[in-house]
Amino acid sequence: MTAVATLGSHCALQVLKGAHDEGLKTILVCEKRRERLYRRFPFIDRLILVDSFSEILDWNIQAELQSENAVMIPHGTLISQMSSDEIESITTPIFGNRWILRWESDRTMKEELMRKAGLRMPAPIDTPDDIDRAVIVKRQGAAGGKGYFIASSRKDYDEKRESLIRQGIISADELLYIQEYAAGVLAYLQFFYSPLNEDVEFFGTDQRHESDIEGLARIPAMEQMNGGVSEVPSFNVIGNSPLVLRESLLDGAYSMGERFVDAAKEAVPPGMNGPFCIEGVYDENAGFTSFEFSARIVAGTNIYMDGSPYYSLLYDRPISMGRRIAMEIKQAFESDRLDSVTT
Ligand code: AMP
Repeated sequence: MTAVATLGSHCALQVLKGAHDEGLKTILVCEKRRERLYRRFPFIDRLILVDSFSEILDWNIQAELQSENAVMIPHGTLISQMSSDEIESITTPIFGNRWILRWESDRTMKEELMRKAGLRMPAPIDTPDDIDRAVIVKRQGAAGGKGYFIASSRKDYDEKRESLIRQGIISADELLYIQEYAAGVLAYLQFFYSPLNEDVEFFGTDQRHESDIEGLARIPAMEQMNGGVSEVPSFNVIGNSPLVLRESLLDGAYSMGERFVDAAKEAVPPGMNGPFCIEGVYDENAGFTSFEFSARIVAGTNIYMDGSPYYSLLYDRPISMGRRIAMEIKQAFESDRLDSVTT
């Protein structure tokens, strides 16, 4: 039988619980400083202890994972702590499509894929001199919103960038990405594409709570203007909460998921296999503008560890995203098609 392995962070608990519930062996690559935390959970069969996650590139850890017939589940921590080259060099089979993770990390490739999928996006702003409206300035990769800032002019941009450099949050040579600010209701649409069943499933929606931009809304404008609030509010993700879309928006959500899967199949074979998320805002006309995608499980699915509402409708039992991944691996293993769900 095959085993499921992941890094100890992000959504490791639901991934391994889901695998355990499907009868698969579970392995956690765990930083020594978090050993005590993860030992609390009895569904984790084996811990491989490391000083830092980059050790998973070492041949001995890869050999251990392979001797367990492990499939590695990629998540945000893998992407934020490792380069695309490093991820692509991992010898353990990775669930989904390891090649598409590069498209998630690289802003230019990311935009290209979203454009191919026909998703409406905020306008990119080529240089700081072109800032003539509210923009959001982002870092490359899955930075979790830390170091992002809003600016409304070149001067504003320069001041905030310099302040973040002074605070050591971004580096002076860092390539920043500027995009029009899209206002509306935040919605992170979570999907799963099954390459075995050739079907897109809508799993659910979440919202992210980001500090300290969110806390700002609780401070009256007068107090904000009098100072006493942080110089450059950040978008550091603290947690997630569920959001239920109006049912009339569901059809549009499915169609975005399907277009994304079709575009990914063409752009980066074998395509968008497994979990993914399209992230954006609904505006006043309920039109969706997406500013991001994640080409793997998102931490926002942690809110549905007991099962998502839409999966209860589809499967008639509580299924988390972690469990859905394990179901696909098990089905693939039993039909001798593991190659179809891993790269
Ligand atoms: P990202 O890393 O692109 O997911 O962005 C982190 C956070 O920044 C998001 O969760 C949003 O709150 C915010 N954000 C990103 N892009 C935009 C945008 N174009 N307009 C408004 N908010 C955005």
